[in-house]
Amino acid sequence: MVKENTGAIVIGAGVIGLACARALALRGVETIIVENHNGIGQETSSRNSEVIHAGLYYPPGSLKAALCTEGRRQLYDYCQSRGVPHRRCGKLIVATSAADEEKLGKLLMQGRENGVDDLVLISATQALSYEPQLSCTAALHSPATGIVDSHALMLALLGDAETRGAVLALNSHVVCGEVGQDNIELLIRSGEEELLLTGTYVINASGLSAATLAKKLAGFPNEHIPQTYLAKGNYYALSGRAPFSRLIYPIPEEGGLGVHLTLDLGHQARFGPDVEWVDSIEYSVDPGRCERFYAEVRKYWPGLPDNALSPAYCGIRPKLSGPNAANADFLIQGPAAHGVSGLIHLFGIESPGLTSALAIAEEVCKELDLAPDRTITS
Ligand SMILES: Cc1cc2nc3c(=O)[nH]c(=O)nc-3n(C[C@H](O)[C@H](O)[C@H](O)COP(=O)(O)OP(=O)(O)OC[C@H]3O[C@@H](n4cnc5c(N)ncnc54)[C@H](O)[C@@H]3O)c2cc1C
Repeated sequence: MVKENTGAIVIGAGVIGLACARALALRGVETIIVENHNGIGQETSSRNSEVIHAGLYYPPGSLKAALCTEGRRQLYDYCQSRGVPHRRCGKLIVATSAADEEKLGKLLMQGRENGVDDLVLISATQALSYEPQLSCTAALHSPATGIVDSHALMLALLGDAETRGAVLALNSHVVCGEVGQDNIELLIRSGEEELLLTGTYVINASGLSAATLAKKLAGFPNEHIPQTYLAKGNYYALSGRAPFSRLIYPIPEEGGLGVHLTLDLGHQARFGPDVEWVDSIEYSVDPGRCERFYAEVRKYWPGLPDNALSPAYCGIRPKLSGPNAANADFLIQGPAAHGVSGLIHLFGIESPGLTSALAIAEEVCKELDLAPDRTITS
């Protein structure tokens, strides 16, 4: 069997793996990205809302709060400098009852604590002056929220990494591995061929498979591997043009952010994602779930016409908390936590992972004691 050595192996070419590969390559680390599929970003990174979140939803002090606000700043700068299509369109989180209004107030306080300093609580009249088709009793305006072309972002990250010498291996599956004293060896299968690849650093950015893969690393202390729960989020597309120019969100619900309206850069609207707990990774969208969407959406957009929604796509959140449990934080697990030199597991990287990608990559390098590179944003 062929054997090779490298500096870093990044498992997974989603937005997180690509951001990590870029950060490592910019620090001069020889990096190989190993990806199952025949292209980048074929799983969760292309099955989301493409929203650049401001950072107001997450408990102060959590990794999600810190990495979302920092990642958002870095992402806007990065998109600007690399010509990645994006729009800072802003969003309204709407209250449709007195109970909702109380929750809006709490979100405002939490957002400010997280450093989202441009949030404004506005009246129904003000909200209607922004979005005349809206129905609400009050709203929270988040001007820092935006949208991004996630595929263009991933291409830019890959381009940066490749320019600094990183190599992408597609159609390559990490089967298992073994942790050693100073390095980690992975068995990689590409078609009929097998390769034993050894890296000083291994970043497990395999998204939904992160925990499964961690269990396949001989010598890794299994007690550090968290249980992962899968929460599917289904989207339904709106036929015709949406009468909104900002994103419209209800008050967050258990497991997700509520059935919201997001726009893509071509102004096409979709509603979702909902929360459907599932046992396996499977991407069909049940047309039957659409009925609930009409009732949810009409709470804030009474003008939604009958039969205007059709099944679009879905994504699956790799969550570290199950139904009826408080939302868990991201888990960036490095040597300080599990004791294996050079190994980072990225567990539970659900929303706001896309927004946080650049900041997560920085955090990974910090865990590995790799000094910041001054050219990182160039
Ligand atoms: C419904 C939904 C909506 C969301 N909306 C937003 C949003 O609006 N804004 C936001 O900031 N975040 C959002 N997120 C979160 C965001 O999409 C994710 O955090 C992010 O895409 C995770 O990227 P990743 O690289 O970790 O995972 P992935 O994109 O899933 O990449 C993992 C990669 O690893 C590969 N892989 C797995 N196992 C192996 C193996 N054994 N060998 C080789 N390769 C392997 C897979 O093929 C895959 O390409 C949303 C998520 C969901 C599910």
